Amino acid sequence: MEQSVITRVGEGLSAGRDSATQYDPRYDPLVSPGPGHGKQYAPTYWAATAGTPPPDDGPITKDIDVDVAIIGAGYTGLATALCLAREHGIKAVVLEANKTSWGCSSRNGGQGQNASGRLSRSQWIERWGKDVALKMHDEIQEGFDNFKSLVAEIDCDPQPGGHFLIAHRPRMMDKLAAEAKVWKDVFGYPSELIDQATLRREYVNDCEAAGALHEPEGIGIHALKLAYGYLRLAREAGARVHPASPVIGWETINGIHHLRTPGGIVRARSVGIATGAYTAPDLHPSLTSRVMPILSNSMVTRPLTQQEIAACNFRTTQVLTDTRTLRFYYRFLPDNRLQIGSRSAITGADAPNPRHYELLIEGMGRKFPALRGVQIDYSWWGWVDVSHDMMPRVCQPDPKQSVFYALGYGGNGVSYSQQAGRRLAERIAGKGSKQMLPIFTSPLPGHPFAPFRRIGQRMLYQLYFRRDEKP
Ligand SMILES: Cc1cc2nc3c(=O)[nH]c(=O)nc-3n(C[C@H](O)[C@H](O)[C@H](O)COP(=O)(O)OP(=O)(O)OC[C@H]3O[C@@H](n4cnc5c(N)ncnc54)[C@H](O)[C@@H]3O)c2cc1C
Repeated sequence: MEQSVITRVGEGLSAGRDSATQYDPRYDPLVSPGPGHGKQYAPTYWAATAGTPPPDDGPITKDIDVDVAIIGAGYTGLATALCLAREHGIKAVVLEANKTSWGCSSRNGGQGQNASGRLSRSQWIERWGKDVALKMHDEIQEGFDNFKSLVAEIDCDPQPGGHFLIAHRPRMMDKLAAEAKVWKDVFGYPSELIDQATLRREYVNDCEAAGALHEPEGIGIHALKLAYGYLRLAREAGARVHPASPVIGWETINGIHHLRTPGGIVRARSVGIATGAYTAPDLHPSLTSRVMPILSNSMVTRPLTQQEIAACNFRTTQVLTDTRTLRFYYRFLPDNRLQIGSRSAITGADAPNPRHYELLIEGMGRKFPALRGVQIDYSWWGWVDVSHDMMPRVCQPDPKQSVFYALGYGGNGVSYSQQAGRRLAERIAGKGSKQMLPIFTSPLPGHPFAPFRRIGQRMLYQLYFRRDEKP
């Protein structure tokens, strides 16, 4: 029997629930005062299937003094707390506005890739030169290896084997070949170019695909089970994690940070900010207009029939992305569903507009015509933290202040966020002096026309769309 369609506009609201804690589909980090207080998860496939959450430490209920407070309990905040406890003997307190990993970490596509930020390896060389690019590759690879170790500790439905970067047009095959050559010649990173017929026959019958580049690193995971695993490990190591405890005021008195939450003031010697795209405009001056929140839409179909699976030839369960700038990311899930995501609205107010949903449906139908009209069981969206130079930062923006942050992964944070947490923990513990890469030594850049960024984004989306869809 067909399961009922989850509301297309991603509302997921249930009658009678306290309206203050209801999920707000129109939330927009650039205009909302903050991410909320004790809000429900977005109506994601992950939230519906993650099972019982592990215990947490409940909301803050009184004033407390701590050595280290981390703001945000997504992958970054939880990984920071875990590394602080395991590797530096520091038992941090994590403050989360809503439920654990309510932001990106419960809404993503679950694609752990050997990457971070939006730049390719050849773009690293253009930006920083070969020597720095090589060190960056080592950092990302080390992060991916650490990610694999953590995934092995956590029950999060891993789908390993690598990543297919799928050419959505024949003209993209030359670009993939050029990138593969740089990977091999400069970085010693192996990959394989796969022609159209082999891809469609052996791996997946994506009807737009002209071929693909396959890299050996890449793991699909259950997004919220991974977060729950981080939560459990962090608490077992001695961290405390407080949901429904948004930081709504911040004063620094004699070097001590007074973080005001609805239940009490947390006085901390050091603060790590791990709020991703959900950073309120006035949380801390070092982050004002430093991150551009970009919406991404995601959906999951009902379990597919054997005929549909055969028509799409889903022989691989590895993670898939295509070569569009406004890219699609997709994967055949362990319970025979398809997850697929791509661009969304510009503003939170426009996010529930059905045309963004229709765009994703249409994209799915072009790739997999057999799935046209298939029931969508889950539909949601979330804000991605894109930095103005397309690369993340883990840094201490002002050496005179014991304030640190890690964010700006640009939609590539599932794996690197735990390494960023590790680096953030080193910095907070006073052991970050060997971190010499540009992503560690400079703060997130600002934007000269910050109030007008969305006008620019709108124009860029039109340009990218025309360029992407050209035959
Ligand atoms: C739809 C979507 C699809 C994605 N797909 C992928 C993918 O397939 N692969 C990939 O690598 N990356 C993907 N990403 C990006 C990835 O999810 C993130 O990079 C990663 O989860 C980063 O986690 P984080 O901990 O830095 O931030 P988040 O998980 O967003 O956590 C930040 C937390 O801070 C909390 N917070 C904010 N302000 C306050 C405050 N004042 N007080 C207390 N708490 C506060 C928020 O409530 C939030 O829970 C996707 C993102 C989205 C939105």
